Amino acid sequence: MLNNVMLKKMNYYKFLKRRSENFKKFFEWSLKYCEKHDKILEFRDVSYLREDGKHIGNCDGNKIIMATKDNKRFEEIYAHEFCHLMQAVEHADVWVNTDNNIYNKMGDGTIQTSDWNAILSVIAVERDCEKRVLALSKKWGLFDNEMYIQNSNLYMHFYHYVYLIGRWPSCDTIYKKQILDRMPTKLLTMKDMQKIDMSIMLLFDKYL
Ligand SMILES: [Zn+2]
Repeated sequence: MLNNVMLKKMNYYKFLKRRSENFKKFFEWSLKYCEKHDKILEFRDVSYLREDGKHIGNCDGNKIIMATKDNKRFEEIYAHEFCHLMQAVEHADVWVNTDNNIYNKMGDGTIQTSDWNAILSVIAVERDCEKRVLALSKKWGLFDNEMYIQNSNLYMHFYHYVYLIGRWPSCDTIYKKQILDRMPTKLLTMKDMQKIDMSIMLLFDKYL
């Protein structure tokens, strides 16, 4: 019997025409992984999944949803969401231990000082996810890994900024060149992320 993934495969092939050969090979493998673990992919022909925060990809552990329209970072974000799916399949500690309530608070703008540990749990799950993306990128030849790490470091700092302002800000992209240029090409550690770098926070405030 065909599952959801198989039924929607025709759409994927149409979409994949614009992708690199390496990404296509990785994607085919990722599809098989989804089929094996009974997970679902959904591609939506929209620019954003939600206008607030301009979300492009999402993974709840059972399903990946991707916005495919005019999405320049599709390949990076697909790999990222796929790695969240892997965390869920493996019941990774960081995935299981994430305080999911914090995502609602980010959306509602109700983050409080006492949510610091929840923010750190989100940074931990994102960092683990980015490490997985980098391993896949090396294996399949997907991305410029140093640039990818700079993006990842910016993303982790961004959660400190969300914590300080108490909500997820609405902006087209958080990956501003002026902030990326300040990011190291080695992945920051969880120890690094225990404290907030105010000079980076001021850059978010200026450029987002
Ligand atoms: Zn993520």
